[in-house]
Amino acid sequence: MHPQRLHTEITFLKGVGPGRARLLSQELGVTTYQDLLYLFPNRYIDKTRFYTISQLERNSAEVQIVGQVVHLKTVEQKKGKRLVATFRDPTGEMELVWFRSHQWFRERIALGEPYVVYGRVNWYAGTYSMAHPEMELLRKFEQKPRIRMQPIYPSTERLSRQGVTNRLIAQWMAQLLGEVEADLTETLPGTLLESLGLVGKKKALIQIHFPDSQADLARAQARLKFEELFYIQLALLAKKQQRKLKIKGFAFQQVGDHFNRFYREHLPFELTDAQKRVIREIRADLGSQAQMNRLLQGDVGSGKTIVAVLAMLLALDNGYQACLVAPTEILAQQHHQAVCELLEPMGLSAGLLTGSVKEKDRKPMLEALLSGELPFLIGTHAVLEDRVRFHNLGLAIIDEQHRFGVAQRARLWKKNTSPPHILVMTATPIPRTLAMSLYGDLDISVIDTLPPGRKPVKTVFRKDADRLKVFRFMKDEIAKGRQVYVVYPLIQESEALDYKDLMDGFESISREFPQPQYQVSIVHGQMKPEDKEFEMRRFVKGQTQIMVATTVIEVGVNVPNASVMVIESAERFGLSQLHQLRGRVGRGADQSYCILMGSDKLSEDARTRLQTMCRTNDGFEIAETDLKLRGPGDLMGTQQSGVLSLRIADVVKDGELLRAARHHAAHLLEADPQLSHPDNRVVRDKMARMEVFKNRWDYIS
Ligand code: ADP
Ligand code: MG
Repeated sequence: MHPQRLHTEITFLKGVGPGRARLLSQELGVTTYQDLLYLFPNRYIDKTRFYTISQLERNSAEVQIVGQVVHLKTVEQKKGKRLVATFRDPTGEMELVWFRSHQWFRERIALGEPYVVYGRVNWYAGTYSMAHPEMELLRKFEQKPRIRMQPIYPSTERLSRQGVTNRLIAQWMAQLLGEVEADLTETLPGTLLESLGLVGKKKALIQIHFPDSQADLARAQARLKFEELFYIQLALLAKKQQRKLKIKGFAFQQVGDHFNRFYREHLPFELTDAQKRVIREIRADLGSQAQMNRLLQGDVGSGKTIVAVLAMLLALDNGYQACLVAPTEILAQQHHQAVCELLEPMGLSAGLLTGSVKEKDRKPMLEALLSGELPFLIGTHAVLEDRVRFHNLGLAIIDEQHRFGVAQRARLWKKNTSPPHILVMTATPIPRTLAMSLYGDLDISVIDTLPPGRKPVKTVFRKDADRLKVFRFMKDEIAKGRQVYVVYPLIQESEALDYKDLMDGFESISREFPQPQYQVSIVHGQMKPEDKEFEMRRFVKGQTQIMVATTVIEVGVNVPNASVMVIESAERFGLSQLHQLRGRVGRGADQSYCILMGSDKLSEDARTRLQTMCRTNDGFEIAETDLKLRGPGDLMGTQQSGVLSLRIADVVKDGELLRAARHHAAHLLEADPQLSHPDNRVVRDKMARMEVFKNRWDYIS
């Protein structure tokens, strides 16, 4: 395609001019020919199809019918009159209605003549009717060129107020297509078009605006969606390929003593197949010449820690240090404890560095790090500080990545002469299709099975009115020595009210569970960090039986003795949040329970969320449902990613196409990494244009 012509400013299109050009730019972001060309219709009015009256349904939208007016009457109504025509075809009768200009219509409608009427049908008082239909005598209709599907473009109030109607935009579009048709060259390799049966670029662009039929429209959409997804995937994969070529990683080539000895003699349990597979994937990365950038997804409790430990041992065996960073102090401590327990039989240990480590303990630790004497460091953000210097950091593991900024991650890169290998662990399952777009340039490993013998958490919904029963249940569990979480929603918009609910709840629980028999903790965001830590620690140690909290406990805390999670106003939580909260229980050997409290009046979405929770414990299934309910824009971490502002494809609905696009993009890069094959010339050209336009791959032709 000749970019020159397509980058012509829209003001040069006949009939546009500077005033309307400004309007188009402000309202629709259209400033060039190309922008207009890629302003795709939101929907179409299908004028290829004729309905009979007997085919109408109550939810039929706009339809086109051939028939005749057999009767006309003017009806008095509260304000003014209306004209009602009885319209008949061989299959039945309906009404056509005019509220305005009824006299004008009354005089012009020819009784008994075949007409084509078009409009939205309503169902009212046992009859179908159409108000202010478009209407044309059949014989005139038949003389005109074939009418196809009418595009309906995105619009704004200001546009229509200023006379830029849908009709006008369609007119411009037809004109534009005529002008640039010769420039619309192919942008996908011929072999790919052929093997996938996709229509050519020019045809697709014409048909997306003015389709000849539903089938042609579907083909045009499929082609353009595929192209969009294909180039995103190609760009992501090429980025990954480039990074691997450019950034030399530390090659951990040997599987040494520590790893082998631990694996053979000190594994506390048999690894699951999923864990073994992930460790193989990580080993392959670490052993290659490239720097690892791997995302490890695994539901809560799936056993990510042991994977981290094995990776750390690989680093040690190759003469490198490793660090593990967690988002909160408690999590860092828990990791530290878990890792030290695992390593103890090996005579190894790790340092713990958090904000509260005293200077006198800190100093020798930092020295041991710098000298290389200390192989492993576990901690919070404190690990990132500049004065924390390693002898030879080779691997950085980050837990619960969504609490961690990109900038902070970048600081890790500076801790050695080359960036260390990075392993990011997250318990937030991301549906595969979304992960492909969001993290398409990372490698992804998934632990998709839980360790054996885990009892799934039993989840039930209870109405607010059943609260006393829930209290009784809590007492029974506490009597067995278990602990209970009670979680309240807290959102910014209703913060004051939410705090009141939390405090009221805390009071009523304190009354119901009096001291000294019971001890109740409370933790929320308005407390000082020290106080929060203090209360959390009391609960972790089992000194309190009930933890009343807002969602601050969401991330990773491990209290295996807690067996009940009560979630108040559960309908107000998102699905993935509910799932994260539920993950706090079911960590020990006992049967655990999640009780979702809510009102009996639920919106449909809320009902779906709660039913999904009661039905399944599978994080990936929950994430898929969440994605369908909320769309990708709201999911964790997607906001800042331009990857999801797609022009025509939809990562949720077009999952199949996305998978195909990824597959073919990977295949193409593998077979022809330099894109030098003649058939791939169009790909190289488009990639070059994408780079020029800062990866605005959405619609660069
Ligand atoms: P998470 O993925 O949430 O970080 P952890 O690594 O904390 O999960 O593991 C959760 C619990 O499961 C721990 O108590 C751990 O010892 C145990 N565990 C992990 N892997 C296995 C396994 N293969 N078999 C049995 N228990 C396991
Ligand atoms: Mg964990």
